[in-house]
Amino acid sequence: MKRIGLLGGMSWESSAEYYRLLNVLVRERLGGLHSADLVLVSVDFAAIESMQVEGRWEEAGRVLAGAAAQLEAAGAEVVLLCTNTMHKVAGAVETAVSVPFLHLADATARAALSLGLERVGLLGTAFTMEQGFYVDRLVSHGLDVVVPEAEDRDLVHRVIYDELCLGVVREESRAAYVEVVGRLVDRGCEGVVLGCTEIELMIGAHEFSVPVLPTTRLHAEAAVSFALA
Ligand code: GLU
Repeated sequence: MKRIGLLGGMSWESSAEYYRLLNVLVRERLGGLHSADLVLVSVDFAAIESMQVEGRWEEAGRVLAGAAAQLEAAGAEVVLLCTNTMHKVAGAVETAVSVPFLHLADATARAALSLGLERVGLLGTAFTMEQGFYVDRLVSHGLDVVVPEAEDRDLVHRVIYDELCLGVVREESRAAYVEVVGRLVDRGCEGVVLGCTEIELMIGAHEFSVPVLPTTRLHAEAAVSFALA
């Protein structure tokens, strides 16, 4: 079993879910008392969030590149950046290590294609939905990607930062997300990417009329397949 390196803390609410899922998946594959061989470097999300809001992406890239190097020094044989949004600086992270970097959007796109989906909706932070780095990566796999209209994007973004990253799960927000997805389905989406690692803490696949792509789970599955190959 290869050692998995988690670059987390963005937010730690979802990093905890990565930790849980990786261990569950390893136990499912190996049985008994088996658990994941992993290391975690967890950053202070307040500092990262300020960099996001102020557009200091290069600085954020340097911070995360340093954290990735720490993972490799701790023996990580594969690195996961446990946030969709910070894949904006995936290049800086990837070049900081000599071990493989599993890009979250690649794992997600492969899962969508394996379900036979062509047109998918994308929920995530405003950065993820509005800046090219994530949509373009999905499109490069041959997917057609649709983001919510402006008002819905505001709502989805606000719930992530004001609630989910703080560990707050509200029924009202869950229902609002279901409505946002309904409008994406009305626009022809055959599936929806839960493109923020906290969203699946609030909402499950059974809530929707179309298949969902839960990015935290898909990333964890890709990591375990790699680690046990
Ligand atoms: N975890 C979230 C994501 O997957 C948002 C937090 C962040 O901005 O990193 O995008």
